[in-house]
Amino acid sequence: MDLPKIAEVVIIGGGVMGASTAYHLAMKGCKKVVLLERDPLFGQEATGKCAGGVRYQFATEINILLSLLSLPMLDRFEAELGQAIDLRRCGYLFLITGEEDVKTFHASLTLQHRLGVMTEWLSGDEVRSRLPLMSLEDVLGATWNPQDGLVDPNSVVQGYIAGAKRLGAKCLTDVEVKSILLKNGRIHGVKTTLGEMKAPIVVNAAGPWAAQIGAMIGLDIPVVPVRRQIAVTTPISQLPPHFPFVVDFAKNLYFHREGPGILTGMSNLNEPPSFNQEVDREWELKHFDEVMARIPLLENAGISSRWAGLYEVSPDAHPILGRVPEVDGFYCINGFSGHGMMHGPICGLLLAEEILDGKAHTLDITSLSLTRFREGKLIQEYNVV
Ligand SMILES: Cc1cc2nc3c(=O)[nH]c(=O)nc-3n(C[C@H](O)[C@H](O)[C@H](O)COP(=O)(O)OP(=O)(O)OC[C@H]3O[C@@H](n4cnc5c(N)ncnc54)[C@H](O)[C@@H]3O)c2cc1C
Repeated sequence: MDLPKIAEVVIIGGGVMGASTAYHLAMKGCKKVVLLERDPLFGQEATGKCAGGVRYQFATEINILLSLLSLPMLDRFEAELGQAIDLRRCGYLFLITGEEDVKTFHASLTLQHRLGVMTEWLSGDEVRSRLPLMSLEDVLGATWNPQDGLVDPNSVVQGYIAGAKRLGAKCLTDVEVKSILLKNGRIHGVKTTLGEMKAPIVVNAAGPWAAQIGAMIGLDIPVVPVRRQIAVTTPISQLPPHFPFVVDFAKNLYFHREGPGILTGMSNLNEPPSFNQEVDREWELKHFDEVMARIPLLENAGISSRWAGLYEVSPDAHPILGRVPEVDGFYCINGFSGHGMMHGPICGLLLAEEILDGKAHTLDITSLSLTRFREGKLIQEYNVV
């Protein structure tokens, strides 16, 4: 497909953020939406490499409110878009092993309850009796929400892209944005590997590459790429069919059922920012020691696949969402810091409202503005894995 010469909105990046934004703009009647993805396929970067977890359990009001709006959109996804997304409500179980974490998790439970998210506290004994296959002697308790779960990220992207195309949006692969054109200090278009196109609005949906897009117009978007890796085991016959998404909070370790095996990841907090997406075999050994200590059954399993992807990390682990006041016509949907997949549906809608209606109205997103960094209004989220 040729590059259109003109658009109302150009979206840079075809992961979940770009796809959701394109669909919601088109749904709201925007006629000329053009989404540009440089890879040969949509959703192959952070989105396609993610663990697929969706949860209500967060520690800040804004993240909980985003989940309260976004997860029901996943419930309605197939009916609205005709695309199955393999949504499984397996629940998230956060294992707590430190006294301090008991206090902070109780505080976030109070916040969640106030907002209508009925996460439960389980005692150590309750956790041990629910998961007899696991080694949990040091667990002091856990938070459990059976409404949390898993989704297939690729299907979500495909559903939004197909939906956007049906509504007239142009979604192109193999097109890289090389620079952004400004005229009199405002957005004028983009220069791509297929030529130039004029547009008064550009959306930065470039995930881990968000800072590079900002740099094209001299803007500092404080998002850094950080490698995170995942391994999936060979089948484990003793695994019960209903196994939750377990997070061993103090170890930054997580695992959930993936087909007949287990998908597991463990974040290396000393990983320096970089675009390196090679699997770190040394870290994988540490990771496997920890996960086998929790699920001794894994000693008999092999690894069927492994990969590394990039988190797009912002300084306070919250997204940067909305208009950028410094440059008229430039919008960001960046910096989701390891939990963007689940907030992609609502954030695409909120950004479409901000662009077309002048302000997001389904939820106030002022606190997520890029300006918070220079104003010193950071919102710290500790519940990041
Ligand atoms: C290992 C791992 C596990 C994760 N687990 C979860 C989880 O369980 N739950 C959850 O909610 N989130 C999870 N995440 C986070 C989630 O994947 C991200 O927050 C989300 O996918 C970000 O989406 P995005 O569209 O912003 O980025 P991406 O999916 O990376 O999309 C950005 C796109 O922009 C394109 N691009 C960049 N520059 C250009 C350019 N100049 N021109 C054209 N295209 C360009 C890229 O090719 C890319 O396709 C995880 C992430 C990783 C890496």
